[in-house]
Amino acid sequence: MPICYNCGNEFQEENITREHIPAQNLFAGYGDEYKVNRIVVPACFECNNQYSQIDQEIRDAIGIMNNNDDKQTELTRKSVKSIMRRKSWADRLFFNDGKVLAVDFSYDDLKKLHIKNFKGVFFNKYGRPFPKDFEVEIIAEGDDDNEKLMGIGKLFFDYVIRDNDFLVSGHEDIFMYNLRTMNPTDTEYVEDNGDIENCLCVVGVLIYHKNMCSIVIAAKKDFLEGVKKDRDKNLT
Ligand SMILES: [Zn+2]
Repeated sequence: MPICYNCGNEFQEENITREHIPAQNLFAGYGDEYKVNRIVVPACFECNNQYSQIDQEIRDAIGIMNNNDDKQTELTRKSVKSIMRRKSWADRLFFNDGKVLAVDFSYDDLKKLHIKNFKGVFFNKYGRPFPKDFEVEIIAEGDDDNEKLMGIGKLFFDYVIRDNDFLVSGHEDIFMYNLRTMNPTDTEYVEDNGDIENCLCVVGVLIYHKNMCSIVIAAKKDFLEGVKKDRDKNLT
């Protein structure tokens, strides 16, 4: 029976849908040549619907961050419309001299979408759902002020990318990623041997539109406590 990439439960064939990783809205305005070999994973109806309320959040953030890239015009147009359509839009904009200086995004919603995409590429790479006893920590935009956390993020980033090319879903201009396991060895080093059950953690790097990067660390609770401590220190 098919297994949902997100909740990990089994479903009858007729109760399974297909979920694109990343969401199709990130391809708005791009030609068909950008949409080849996209990652598609099996998802139950509930998990598929679960993200529909926040699905525009990454698209909106990328559209607003657009740095005069003509190909992103359509994406930016949709982002602006989407932000203005919502009731609280004025509260999210910061003005200076009559110009919009910045837009506030929900870090929690962005995080949820990074986790969703991580689970999708995890399922695609390892052919199994994400372990149920794993938890997830994210280092991404919004953490820039936390020097220590960014330092940890760079270590994880380098580990994933060392000797590794980025993989692509659709096109490298839209979504690049890679992920590796960290398994203990007899030495002080760790290695990527793909053994999920006995790994310290699984680390993923997700890059959207070559502009937004998130580092996802998935592990059993104990391993993540250290990373979490560094995050919380910054909040006080
Ligand atoms: Zn599900």
